[in-house]
Amino acid sequence: MVLRVFNTIDGKLEEFRPLLDTHVGMYVCGPTVYDWTHMGHARTYLAFDVIVRWLKFKGFSVFYVQNITDVGHLTEDSAEDKIAKKAKEKRIEPMQLVEFYMREYLKDLDLLGVERPDISPRATGHLIEIIEAVESLIKKEYAYEVNGNVFFDVSKFEDYGMLSKIKPKAMLAGSRFEIHPDKRNPQDFALWKKAEKNALLKWWSPWGYGFPGWHIECAIMGLKYLGSQLDIHGGARDLVFPHHENEIAQCEALTGKKPFVKYWLHTGFLTISGEKMAKSLGNYVTVREALEKYEAEAIRLFVLSAHYRSEINFTDKRLRAAEAGLRRLYNTISSLEEAMEHSVKRKLTEAEKKIKKKVEKLEFEFVEAMDEDFNTPQAIATLFELSREINRFLGEQKQASIELLKEIYEALLEKGKVLGLFQRERIKKPSEKLVNDLVKLLVELRENLRRKGDFELSDGIRAKLRESGVVLEDTSEGCKWKLT
Ligand code: AMP
Ligand code: ZN
Repeated sequence: MVLRVFNTIDGKLEEFRPLLDTHVGMYVCGPTVYDWTHMGHARTYLAFDVIVRWLKFKGFSVFYVQNITDVGHLTEDSAEDKIAKKAKEKRIEPMQLVEFYMREYLKDLDLLGVERPDISPRATGHLIEIIEAVESLIKKEYAYEVNGNVFFDVSKFEDYGMLSKIKPKAMLAGSRFEIHPDKRNPQDFALWKKAEKNALLKWWSPWGYGFPGWHIECAIMGLKYLGSQLDIHGGARDLVFPHHENEIAQCEALTGKKPFVKYWLHTGFLTISGEKMAKSLGNYVTVREALEKYEAEAIRLFVLSAHYRSEINFTDKRLRAAEAGLRRLYNTISSLEEAMEHSVKRKLTEAEKKIKKKVEKLEFEFVEAMDEDFNTPQAIATLFELSREINRFLGEQKQASIELLKEIYEALLEKGKVLGLFQRERIKKPSEKLVNDLVKLLVELRENLRRKGDFELSDGIRAKLRESGVVLEDTSEGCKWKLT
């Protein structure tokens, strides 16, 4: 089946054909690491995690680059570097702050079961490449320097606006552009910014001390690791303008108008009480807070219950519903595991042939949904339908064919796994029988010790077992145990 994706630049669904056979070069804008990761960020990175999983499922090899922004991202109100500002407040080194939040970000995404990108390049590790690119843009007359600042001259790039459809000439000066006295046109944007004397983040350049603009960072890291043309570039929808628009202008000016990106994918916002969840609005729930309340896979199921391009509202009710849904799916897995233990080897009965067909049909529908621009809500609906059919079948059968049960079991696990579900440790949990045997062994050991008069050790075993929720009771018929 053919995969179709919604390409922001063309505003429509298109057949997905990478530039080079089955190889996919993909870049997703990473976080600015100056604070905790919140559920809004998680929504975007979970969406791209599933996109990567699906591409791999379809047989593509994916090279996934996701940067870490550690300089150059300025606050909307005071145009201060977000990292430098926070480091100053905390009286620590900016890179200490970066290192801390970068590690926590990776930990959060690990906890959510998000597969790590192949490379997580940091902007400050690419200053030489950035400076070289800015020099080249000046040479090509796409950029100009004034008083230690270098700006990209938007009027020189006639295709400006091709992604966002925002044409600079149609914009009122200053309405969405940073006003700067050295700019030729208000819509020009900074490639290199002059640093204040006491700036915490500054590097030497041909234009004096300064730091790179946020837009050139992603452009250069994209070009460096993925070449002059990328298959996929992603981020949330707020990055379309100006961040991604500016990336196109810079890269295509550098490479001689080679189309920088074939498919632009953008996620919708995660909202809370109908408003975008954002650090600046103070309405955010961190991933860590969410994980204290809800299970990681329930958070994932909640996020995937909406299409990645739609908005999704974060409510306790929806997360609880996701938890209940997840429980239903896991119950089906358990029922299948149990049924497999007393299954038989034989030819399929009529009822078995029927369920086999249903499972195959639902598997087909799952693939169809995912192939239509990664339609996870539709895919999840087929997963629940699959679970209902399996439950009904198991409820009606005393015994079933082992081959059939195995096939159904694998089908369910495979489809869940491609959404990042069914990764819970419980699948590897020791069986009840093993737990019983181990407790019995400890009880016998304790009785032996008591008989030998070693009460210190035997009481120690009793206390440890109690801590783990196993209570021992000495009766006239010997020692009995129960779980608390
Ligand atoms: P930042 O750390 O602000 O650069 O954001 C990192 C990524 O998360 C960007 O692609 C943002 O657009 C995205 N993002 C931030 N807030 C939300 C949100 N509420 N919903 C979806 N994506 C978001
Ligand atoms: Zn970016």
